[in-house]
Amino acid sequence: MTPTLLDVADLDAGYGDFQALYGLSLQVGAGETIAIIGANGAGKTTLLRAVMGQVRVRGGTISYDGEDLSGVPTHDRVRRGMGLVPEGRRLFPSLSVEENLMIGGYGRRPGRWTIPEVLAVFPMLQPLLKRASSTLSGGEQQAVAIGRTLMANPDLVLLDEVSLGLAPVVVHRLYEALPQIVDGGTTVVVVEQDITLALDVADRVYCLLEGRVSLSGPPVDLTRDAITTAYFGV
Ligand code: ATP
Repeated sequence: MTPTLLDVADLDAGYGDFQALYGLSLQVGAGETIAIIGANGAGKTTLLRAVMGQVRVRGGTISYDGEDLSGVPTHDRVRRGMGLVPEGRRLFPSLSVEENLMIGGYGRRPGRWTIPEVLAVFPMLQPLLKRASSTLSGGEQQAVAIGRTLMANPDLVLLDEVSLGLAPVVVHRLYEALPQIVDGGTTVVVVEQDITLALDVADRVYCLLEGRVSLSGPPVDLTRDAITTAYFGV
């Protein structure tokens, strides 16, 4: 593995009295593409949100680039090079595609991503730049959401269920962009319901089950049976 960029160690996290993650550990090397799989409610979104500082950590540590993130607010994590494409996209619906992208670039770190660079990766957005984002298809909106996150020039991009609710052909077009995103050295963590897709794109996979890591490793090392057991717990 390359030097560790993100190190989650023994993480406990949850909401109010409810604990969603139990002693969860995960390492992401610089330049790696990691997929996190698991059934509904397994804790995938909670993990990404905890990494971004949006869910309270009760135990364990999250370190980024060798530094403990305890007490570091979300905006500071973004400034340090972490970016999340949230589940459900969360675009500003009345703002144009261009404006949504510009908001992503507000206070940006120096780096490769500009609006022309985003359009080079997602050419379907070019004719839509002046359109309100609410008028776009789901796939187009997802491309804007990814582009908006890239505009901050993150070193680590967390993608939460990019494919949710989209037709397979649209999902394929979005995932086609991944190599171009990774190309600049960007590290990527995808949460993905589609196991085949996850195994296809990832250097390593983590499967979560009821808030714990139930299986991890490079796709070539994981049998279908082992994945099924880790995914469903049966
Ligand atoms: P999904 O594919 O459904 O998004 P997931 O693996 O991302 O699933 P999480 O969304 O992280 O799972 O949810 C983990 C657990 O935490 C679930 O039991 C869920 O009901 C609970 N949970 C998630 N968000 C909240 C919240 N805001 N308040 C209380 N409980 C929550």
